[in-house]
Amino acid sequence: MSKKGNLFVVTGPSGAGKGSVLAELFKIKENIFFSVSATTRQPRPGEKEGINYFFVSKDRFEEMISCNELLEHAEYVGNYYGTPENPVNEMLKLGKDVILEIEVQGALQIKKKRPDAITVFIAPPSFEVLASRLRNRGTESDEVVAMRLEQAKNECRYMSDYDYIVINDSLEKAVSDLSAVITAAGCRSENVDLRF
Ligand code: 5GP
Repeated sequence: MSKKGNLFVVTGPSGAGKGSVLAELFKIKENIFFSVSATTRQPRPGEKEGINYFFVSKDRFEEMISCNELLEHAEYVGNYYGTPENPVNEMLKLGKDVILEIEVQGALQIKKKRPDAITVFIAPPSFEVLASRLRNRGTESDEVVAMRLEQAKNECRYMSDYDYIVINDSLEKAVSDLSAVITAAGCRSENVDLRF
């Protein structure tokens, strides 16, 4: 019996800890593919081309939009972000689960285009925790931190549009909740090829 891959959209405001949750998830889940996005933002220290993002110029990004290379795209705090469509389709065809780690506008676009996508919002335990995590990260200027906090507040307003909410107050619990969502989706009868 083979299983069909599912498309998961994971959103969480900067500082909600979705990066850590996903990193742990990839250690314990097999047959799962992380979609690498294209962005016009500058790499942060330690980020690698083709692993964290495809870092592209604004011109190249606009070309990707006009050539329909992106499944969705959005502008976020002054930069473009988008999901290259081909790798996602290829991986789903191979029966892999695909994770898109994207912000709210992109998630809403995906829900329209691919209604069978499963959306998960990773929420911080509180806004205060989120603010202190962002400030302590120390990778952005105060101005960018303030913009990201404002963006985070806006994003949290869309929580109820998501299929699932995972609260990240404990990393272990958040990983286990997200893993449970993925496992349950894979066991849905419509996702299992019932021919023996
Ligand atoms: P960061 O700059 O912190 O890596 O990402 C900023 C925001 O952009 C995060 O909320 C992240 O989830 C989102 N993001 C990353 N890749 C994509 C993408 O391909 N499309 C959209 N819509 N958002 C993305």
